[in-house]
Amino acid sequence: MKIQLLPSTFDGQGRATLDQRLTCFLIDECVAIDAGSIAIALTNDQRDHVRDIIVTHPHMDHIASLPIFIDDLYATLREPIRVHATPEVIALLERDVFNWNVYPRFSGLTNDYGPVMKYVPIPVGQEFKVAHLTVTAVPVNHIVPTIGLLVADEHSVVAFSSDTAETDDFWNMVNDAKGVNALLIEASFPNDMAKLAEVSRHFTPAALGRELKKLSQNGLDILAVHLKPAYRQTIIKELEALQISKLGVMEPGKTYSW
Ligand SMILES: [Zn+2]
Ligand SMILES: [Zn+2]
Repeated sequence: MKIQLLPSTFDGQGRATLDQRLTCFLIDECVAIDAGSIAIALTNDQRDHVRDIIVTHPHMDHIASLPIFIDDLYATLREPIRVHATPEVIALLERDVFNWNVYPRFSGLTNDYGPVMKYVPIPVGQEFKVAHLTVTAVPVNHIVPTIGLLVADEHSVVAFSSDTAETDDFWNMVNDAKGVNALLIEASFPNDMAKLAEVSRHFTPAALGRELKKLSQNGLDILAVHLKPAYRQTIIKELEALQISKLGVMEPGKTYSW
């Protein structure tokens, strides 16, 4: 499985920077998890192939350019963009984003080939298919309805925490799965901002260190994501200080394979 955390910002020469402001993981060039930077960072070739997007929750950093992505492709889509989300999140996207005020209600619109956007409700706690992937979703602990994911193809299994604070369902899912290759886990705020992390339901490195004690699998790669750009260097130092083997930080723009 090939996974890229799409970049969110680019320097003066157009090179991707390491700051992660938005969240969008591209899997095997065709499935996206979240859509923060989807309209900004995909190549034209990738844009032609991504038709399935799993939205973990409706926060802006996870959906910012989803409306623009569908808008860009509107006339040329020969199949709808499928937005996979829980029924609660679908309702929030329809109410707060695709509501004709913020952007058009694409789920009700068609082009010359048919519908341009289709919602696919996620059955929480049960396996479902997205393209060639087998996915399981469980609720995590964030301030809006949010899911963590286990994503498998025939070779590998990768877990995505999405945005969360202390949680048990996610760890139970990961521990029950066989042979998880990688865990992509959030670490949003530095340790001295624990209060804000708590009210906004995110991890600091210290909180993540405590959570990782719930992980019973050994040997998997653990990559921290969702580091707030303003505190990136501090968070990296605090993650290193945990001295957890195979814990690193995922680089936006780099393609990882498991
Ligand atoms: Zn969030
Ligand atoms: Zn977020």
